[in-house]
Order: sequence, then C-alpha cells, then structure tokens
Amino acid sequence: MKNFLIIFLVNLLIMCSSSSTVNSVDEGDTIIDPFKINSKLYPGINLGNALEAPNEGDWGVTIKDEYLRIIKDAGFNSVRIPIRWSAHTEIDSPYTLDYSFLARVKHVIDEALNNNLTVVINIHHFEEIFQNPEAQHDKFLSIWEQVSRIFKDYPESLVFEILNEPHDNFTAELWNEYFPEAIEVIRRTNPDRTLIVGTAGWGGISALNDLEIPNDEQNLIITVHYYEPFHFTHQGAEWSDGSEAWLGTTWSATFEEVTSMKNHFDQIDAWATENNRPIYIGEFGAYHKADMYSRHLWTGYVVNQCQQHNFSWAYWEFCSGFGAWNPESKTWNQALLSALIQN
Ligand code: BGC
Repeated sequence: MKNFLIIFLVNLLIMCSSSSTVNSVDEGDTIIDPFKINSKLYPGINLGNALEAPNEGDWGVTIKDEYLRIIKDAGFNSVRIPIRWSAHTEIDSPYTLDYSFLARVKHVIDEALNNNLTVVINIHHFEEIFQNPEAQHDKFLSIWEQVSRIFKDYPESLVFEILNEPHDNFTAELWNEYFPEAIEVIRRTNPDRTLIVGTAGWGGISALNDLEIPNDEQNLIITVHYYEPFHFTHQGAEWSDGSEAWLGTTWSATFEEVTSMKNHFDQIDAWATENNRPIYIGEFGAYHKADMYSRHLWTGYVVNQCQQHNFSWAYWEFCSGFGAWNPESKTWNQALLSALIQN
C-alpha cells in the first residue's frame, strides 16, 4: 500500500512537472500578435466622463456595475476606460497612487473582464504634463511603473494606452522621447502586454507622420481619434471655443463629405501599411447638440470606414454628452446603436 502511494505521488509529480513544461513551451512559442488583440477591440465604447473627471461623479457619471453588462449585451466587445491617475497620487516623488482610487479602478476593470469585454485603460487628462512636460516626466513614468506592476498578472485582454491626446507644450518631439521610456518601464513587469500609443497634436491624423516608434517594439497598436469635421462633431461643446457659432451644422453624407472622410481614412491606412502597424480609432463621436439624423449617418459612415480598413474602434462615449445610452430612461439611443452595431 505504501509503495502504491509512493508510485502515485511520484507519477503525480511527473505529471505536474511535464504539464508545466508543456505550458511554458506553449508560452515560449506564442507569437505576440497585436493585430489579433486589435481585432478584439471592436465594437468598442468609451466609459467617458467618469474616472477621468477630477473625481468620479464630478462630471455626472458614476460607473455602475450593470453598465458593463448592458454594454456587453448590446453587442460591444470592448470598453476603453479613461482614467485621471494624475489627480490621485501623492504630491511628491514617488507619487504613490491613492489606494482607494486604485481599488475602485480595479473593481471596474474586473467587472468589465467578468463580462468578457476587452479593456483599454489609459492615462487621461494629465493636464499638468501638457503645460509643463519636463516637470511631470517622473510622475508620468512613476504612474506607469505602479499601474503596470499592479496589473501585471492580468490577462492579455487588458491593454494599456500610454497617454490620451498629448498636446500644447507636450510636443511631438517630446512625445517621441517620453513614450518609449514609458514602454520601457511597463516592459519590466509586462513583457507581453499589448500597448497602445497615440499621436501628438490632440491624437489626430496629422501627427501620425511625426510618430517615431522604436523598431524593436512590435507589440503595439497605434490609436488615432476622429472628430472631423470638428465644427460638426463639436458644435455647442462647452469646452471648445467658438462652438456656439457652429450649432446647426449638419452632416448628410454629401459627395464632398464622404470623399473627405474617405481621404482621411486612406491617409491613416497608407501610414499603417507602410509601417505595418494595427490601427485603433479609440475615440470618435458627435456631440448631442448636433441633430440626431446627422449623428446617426456620420457615426455609421465612420464605423463603415473602420470596417473597410480593418481598424478597430471605440465610440466616444457611453452615457454622457455624446452618449449612446440614456441613464435616465435606461435605454439605448436606437439611432446611434444601430449605426454602431451593424448586424
Ligand atoms: C476628452 C473629452 C472630450 C472628448 C471629445 C476626449 O479625449 O477627454 O473630455 O469630451 O475628447 O472632445
């Protein structure tokens, strides 16, 4: 009996060790493919105006657990969660993140993953770095050091986006210096995680050609935001100077409008093909002050362009000023939803 037990235990040990060998071989053989991860990012939607407000709730959105299920049930495969980490650290180096904020973010990420959504988290509204990049350089890297360490064991369906829309004094030149440093910091704990990098100049198309991506970094998705024509998408937007004057601007898929949109997408595609990088249109949307018919049309055309070019995408945003879902009536805006989820 004793012998049997010993043989059983030895066999068990062999089985366990061989299965872990198989696993590690598999892992070693795994080809990290950012194109594959990118294909899981759409249809996507931004959980905007919540965790990137100075404090969650300040801009009218507090994420409820049920939101993630509602998003999944509507047919979305991913959520982008903008996060204002910079407002939730200690003032001085090493800029330790506030524990309760971190726990809150982790809860939202877990909820999204439990609903089988692929999740993009970023650094959003780091306003100080746009004004004085040099002074914020260490804080920027420290945030990524902490965030990447905390989530290092999360599945590949959690994707990190380095920074939302660099602009102002955070020039394309500085961005080309800082984002590779952030990647280096993240890679220490997350060698295999897919990362997203956007363009300077507010994340638009025009700065694509300024982007200098380290050649040895293959596991990257490039993100571009699309809000053209700006006077249409941002009419009446309180944060855009002069936008009152744009009220009433329509978008009716005229030949000129469609051609201009196609040209923009062709431009992105040309860059993507030349550089062999996957593309994520991580934000696009038209503000609620535009007429509904134009919003529906424009949104559908953008989704269509993304599909034609194999770009992934995330609509801006779930339940606020651009909202596709109404938190009061708890219903989807059917015109927008039908433009986004085209079955
Ligand atoms: C900003 C939002 C804004 C949206 C459209 C986002 O990147 O963070 O505050 O509503 O762009 O302008």
